[in-house]
Amino acid sequence: MSILPAAEFAADISFPVVIVGAGAAGLIAALAAREAGVEVLVIERDSTPRGSTSLSAGLIPAAGTRWQRAVGVEDTAEAFAADILAKAHDTPDPAMVAMASAMAGPTLEWLADQHGLDFSVIADFLYPGHSACRMHGLPKRAGAELIEALAAAAERAGVTVLCDAQVLKLAAEADGRIVGVVVQRPDGGTERIGCQALVLACNGYGGNKVLVAQHVPELAEALYFGHPGNQGEAILWGEALGAATRHLSGHQGHGSVAHPAGILISWATLTEGGFQINTEGQRFHNESLGYSEAASPVLRQPGGVAWSVFDSRIGLIAAQFEDFRQAEAAGIVLRAPDVAGLAARMRVPVDALAATMAEVDSLKVSGGTDRFGRSFAGVAALQPEFCAVRVTGALFHTQGGLSVDPRTRVLRENGEPLPNMFAAGGAACGVSGPDASGYLSGNGLLMATALGRQAGISAAALAKPAE
Ligand SMILES: Cc1cc2nc3c(=O)[nH]c(=O)nc-3n(C[C@H](O)[C@H](O)[C@H](O)COP(=O)(O)OP(=O)(O)OC[C@H]3O[C@@H](n4cnc5c(N)ncnc54)[C@H](O)[C@@H]3O)c2cc1C
Repeated sequence: MSILPAAEFAADISFPVVIVGAGAAGLIAALAAREAGVEVLVIERDSTPRGSTSLSAGLIPAAGTRWQRAVGVEDTAEAFAADILAKAHDTPDPAMVAMASAMAGPTLEWLADQHGLDFSVIADFLYPGHSACRMHGLPKRAGAELIEALAAAAERAGVTVLCDAQVLKLAAEADGRIVGVVVQRPDGGTERIGCQALVLACNGYGGNKVLVAQHVPELAEALYFGHPGNQGEAILWGEALGAATRHLSGHQGHGSVAHPAGILISWATLTEGGFQINTEGQRFHNESLGYSEAASPVLRQPGGVAWSVFDSRIGLIAAQFEDFRQAEAAGIVLRAPDVAGLAARMRVPVDALAATMAEVDSLKVSGGTDRFGRSFAGVAALQPEFCAVRVTGALFHTQGGLSVDPRTRVLRENGEPLPNMFAAGGAACGVSGPDASGYLSGNGLLMATALGRQAGISAAALAKPAE
């Protein structure tokens, strides 16, 4: 990934702050920079802002918010930070965990108050690893709704978003100071845009098969469910400039993508009392650990598929999510009044499904732990009507990235910051550690929102002339 020497760069136009990528991280950074009073340009390769943000469920974890208080959820940034560290076995940078968990709540309230985003908290379903209900979303619980709201807010705030423009190269001084970027348009033409501060918000490398095979070989052949434009440029540019990267093998997988329809099926279908079986009717893992680490076990089953089995009560909880409603509309949530009918629709051996159901029911009564380590204590038995969806495992997004400090400054190996480069969202190293099991629900958009806002503040402070 080439870096153009500053001496060979002459800007056609300049902005104090340039942001690469118009996903949640880039647009939130832009809103923060505008609020600080600087002109900002967001450069986006697509013809409209989308990114992985638009493909997501749009759920953002935050602690101590007014939406939590309104429904009686007690929570603190410290408890949130402890959950993040516990899920990732204390591997993330504690300073970044503290910063992100403290920044998330105020950032969502700022997006609501200043930019009209209508958040509420999901209070009827506790995501695995979270000690409190703290996943917030817009009314439809859909990422497309989130990105549309952010893009509209950016437009109202006077942010310039240049679409159909792929950043090909950064231009830098010998000391790593970025002087601008080279952008390519769909017709092959190029433009040179100067800047005083650069924010990399172009996510990770999930769409780059070569980098996935190198860093996450277990999912090299898996379905990639994120945005194809996430090609890893932030990491490659950073490395070329001497920046440090961290936890590049970290990622979020998912063990519940409807197959072959390709629709995300909420993990609530499992944690609320459902379970997964393979095509032979056998369970094969502990679903309560989380959806991220479930991708590999699902892919190891015959045909690389599994069935998520639940009931209509759980289906109602899942139906608050736009994706699940789409799955129902597509007719891929199979339903039957009894086990035999469900087994017939699933084409799995009825005896095996009935035995698995009976085993799970008895665990729910006894409160015992199964052979995979899952406790079903306190969870209601499944009741007719029974439901099932055929699913597969997928790679959602990568979690490793550029090392940044709590001001989102990109760091060199020696811990010194590069002069004027910041990273947020999936471009920065996340708080999930080096493997799939470290991903706590919402870590993705946490890094996009909390770090996005901070990156905008930091970049604006650097670019703004002293008053
Ligand atoms: C199916 C799915 C569901 C998910 N659900 C959730 C969830 O509910 N909660 C959660 O926390 N996380 C979730 N995630 C993860 C979440 O979507 C990401 O962590 C988050 O969207 C990252 O935001 P971002 O702004 O960093 O990246 P993106 O939203 O991907 O934005 C990056 C943008 O940069 C652009 N870009 C890339 N390279 C260039 C370039 N060279 N020049 C110009 N533009 C460029 C891309 O086109 C893209 O628009 C989910 C992910 C998937 C795939």
